[in-house]
Amino acid sequence: MKFATKAIHAGQEPDPATGAIMTPIYQTSTYVQSSPGKHKGYEYARTQNPTRDALQKCIAALENGKHGLCFASGMAATDSVAKLFKPGDEIICTNDLYGGTYRIFTKVYQSYGLKFHFTDLTKIEEVRKLITDKTRMIWIETPTNPMMRVIDIQAISALKKGKNILVAVDNTFASPYIQQPLDLGADIVVHSATKYLGGHSDVVHGAIVVNDDELLERLAFQQNSCGGVPGPQDCFLVLRGLKTLHIRMERHSENGEKIARYLKNHSKVDKVFWPGFEDHPDHMTAKKQMKVYGGMLSFTMKDDSIKEAYKVLEKFKVFSLAESLGGVESLVGHPASMTHASIPREERLKSGLKDSLIRVSVGIEDAEDLIADMEQALG
Ligand SMILES: *Cc1c(COP(=O)(O)O)cnc(C)c1O
Repeated sequence: MKFATKAIHAGQEPDPATGAIMTPIYQTSTYVQSSPGKHKGYEYARTQNPTRDALQKCIAALENGKHGLCFASGMAATDSVAKLFKPGDEIICTNDLYGGTYRIFTKVYQSYGLKFHFTDLTKIEEVRKLITDKTRMIWIETPTNPMMRVIDIQAISALKKGKNILVAVDNTFASPYIQQPLDLGADIVVHSATKYLGGHSDVVHGAIVVNDDELLERLAFQQNSCGGVPGPQDCFLVLRGLKTLHIRMERHSENGEKIARYLKNHSKVDKVFWPGFEDHPDHMTAKKQMKVYGGMLSFTMKDDSIKEAYKVLEKFKVFSLAESLGGVESLVGHPASMTHASIPREERLKSGLKDSLIRVSVGIEDAEDLIADMEQALG
């Protein structure tokens, strides 16, 4: 089946009891057994839930993967991946990444003895030099957040050949419509389904997709033991969001391109970071691994002061100033004081994240209204 058909049908059969075409919200904590241990595949809802099952199958199908596992949030999914490792294990990680991921790695897992190397994963030879016999995972986020660099998933995945290393990709920014990391050699895909997969800013949710049966078993064991599972209503909302993922991503990308090109010609704007530009440093990689270039972009202003950024941010009327991304509505954010405030300023500047940087999650409104709003906010 092709992508759009999978988005609407994968994992979802009409309800066998009633014929309901939409997967019901199985709001139950337990399931009846006819004799001890004799049941219909469901025992207790931390372990299994039919609404969650349908969603797991659908997300796995969209990622061209074998197994999906859904979580209470993107961070619960990341947490589950980090728990695969033992004290002394080393992890190489994108240096420009989601602030919450940086926080859980440095403030939680470092104290359990895991060692993290944050580096620029676009420099493949530098990454190769960091690999030791203790390296167990390379964590990729691409496009990166918020500098919009693009990491070559295939080239990074080639580095693990013959070694006991897993490659994990946080695919939140691109969504499986734009790129499918497992097909490029990655072992684990992680999502904050709160963003594009859910798509309507009404749910917090996370997911993991893998091909390997044993890896699924280890992750499912972690999940069932630690308990970071999503509720059935949240699973239903993400399942509904997925049905329009393909058309939303097309429009996010079209609008993203229009806003990026508009900003590039604006006299007050210094730099615009969007992987679809031919002069973007990673454009060739983006062209190779991304179907379209998405609705995420960021820009800096010639007046590189926090004051100027705040002035512009307070003026938006159609764009809303808020954390998060990937919903149908357009959002703007100030990474230095919002999403990336938990990363020290020196670390932020190392990856190019200046004080005036504004991140934009371009929604699917009318592009003309969005450009008019940019115009008045910058003007
Ligand atoms: C939001 C986000 C997360 C965390 O997901 P939650 O659902 O908020 O827990 C992880 N990675 C990226 C890239 C994100 O944008």
